[in-house]
Amino acid sequence: MQTHEHDVIIVGGGPTGLMLAAELALAGVDAVVVERKPTQARVGDRAGGLHARTLEILDQRGIVDRFLAEGKTHPRVSFHAALDISDFPTRHNYLLALPQEKTERLLAAWADELNVRIVRDRDVDGIECDADGVDVTTTQGARMRARWLVGCDGGRSRIRKLAGIGFPGWDASTSWIIAEVRMTEKPVLGFHEDASGRHAMSMLEDGVTVGVVLAGRDPQAAGEPSLDEVAAGLNAIYGTDFGVHSPTWLSRFSDAVRQADRYRNGRILLAGDAAHIHPPLGGQGLNLGVQDAVNLGWKLAQVVKGVSPDSLLDTYQAERHPAAARVLRNTIAQGVLRRPDDRTPVLGEFVAEMLAMDEPRKRFGAMIAGLDIRYDLGEGHPLLGRRMPDLDIVTAAGPTRVYALLHEARPVLLNFAATYAADRVQRVDATTDGVCELPVVGAVPLPAAVLVRPDGHVAWAGDGGAEGLRAAVAAWFGA
Ligand SMILES: Cc1cc2nc3c(=O)[nH]c(=O)nc-3n(C[C@H](O)[C@H](O)[C@H](O)COP(=O)(O)OP(=O)(O)OC[C@H]3O[C@@H](n4cnc5c(N)ncnc54)[C@H](O)[C@@H]3O)c2cc1C
Repeated sequence: MQTHEHDVIIVGGGPTGLMLAAELALAGVDAVVVERKPTQARVGDRAGGLHARTLEILDQRGIVDRFLAEGKTHPRVSFHAALDISDFPTRHNYLLALPQEKTERLLAAWADELNVRIVRDRDVDGIECDADGVDVTTTQGARMRARWLVGCDGGRSRIRKLAGIGFPGWDASTSWIIAEVRMTEKPVLGFHEDASGRHAMSMLEDGVTVGVVLAGRDPQAAGEPSLDEVAAGLNAIYGTDFGVHSPTWLSRFSDAVRQADRYRNGRILLAGDAAHIHPPLGGQGLNLGVQDAVNLGWKLAQVVKGVSPDSLLDTYQAERHPAAARVLRNTIAQGVLRRPDDRTPVLGEFVAEMLAMDEPRKRFGAMIAGLDIRYDLGEGHPLLGRRMPDLDIVTAAGPTRVYALLHEARPVLLNFAATYAADRVQRVDATTDGVCELPVVGAVPLPAAVLVRPDGHVAWAGDGGAEGLRAAVAAWFGA
């Protein structure tokens, strides 16, 4: 058996693991991804899009154009009704329709450029933790060791179970079959609603494979469905099985909602679906995972490098657990509004009427788009804890914008009307004519200076006295 030494082992090379690996690589940390699947090849499509905040995050790293080039933008997001976000104060005031497979391929290519090592065809089946690190074993007999381990291994996370982290929540009340198949008869494309729920069929890009979603399945069903089960479901719903054959993907999902009761146990952390699962209403899961990764990456990097104590990692749970909990709850609410009984649609009508009003549209649209997140960093300027808007600015080097300063994932002290300086952060003196406007909140006064974390959130916003700045730099970027 071979022993490898790494700073961080990431188990799972889905969107969360790939984003985290790239963030750690940007910070100069040696992270290796261990992935069960032998190749990056497409398996089946789950997520269909990226929301505004995720696009902003990719913009912060200078790679958003790659994603925009492969997808199609839509001005609306969905919470029970379609909510127009085209008037939102962000450069990415839309949903980008982009199949998960493409998102993963683009993230993997970026990670590759950053020299991230992905060890494929390895299924992690054991972990052993001691005071200095974690040993990992795979079913293929490989053994690796790292100082930290992050489970990004999806909703059925083995790492979560091995780490003894609880996963409380709501059991499934219904489930769906999702499949990619061929048919000898012409499929009925689009949605089809009946007493068992909302079913769907769509033609995939190759023009011959049909994507099928069948609602109202057994909530207890587990494991991969058989082709016979798909055929029986089609028959019951559409009165024919369409001559279904040659499946390339058969899977299920349910409305179970669960969240890890802690995101860290010693040297083991969780991110993405490993930490939270919910039904795909509003299309938020992948986005949450990428945002977890960007919150965790720079913090873990600082702990690995000894810049910050490992208590910095407690802020990962403090910030991301509530963010995911809110998404979990909004998917429960959306699921309840879709219940196939006689009376629920009446409630739905009233909710839709409310959402057509401007203020609710903005609030719910920002929630689904991930633009309303405010980490609780105490009282202060309205920017504190929120994402920094991507203002057009002029610096000594010429015109630029705030997100361009975050490409290297390093903290930035932006002086607008002050001359503050601090160790361990890049200082940029800038002017702006831009209005500092936040989604939902509206225009806020531009502070004299802001301290922006590598994840784009504001750690300090000040108008007088450097004491607060010193404390914020020490708290976030090491004493
Ligand atoms: C039908 C459906 C539609 C969806 N639509 C959307 C949407 O529109 N928008 C959205 O944001 N989200 C959507 N989601 C959710 C989204 O797919 C997930 O939230 C996302 O894939 C989570 O990413 P992840 O990297 O955390 O986990 P995963 O994508 O599950 O990745 C985990 C990785 O870990 C690997 N792995 C697992 N165990 C091991 C092991 N023991 N050893 C090594 N490797 C391992 C797996 O092979 C996998 O590659 C949808 C989900 C479903 C089911």
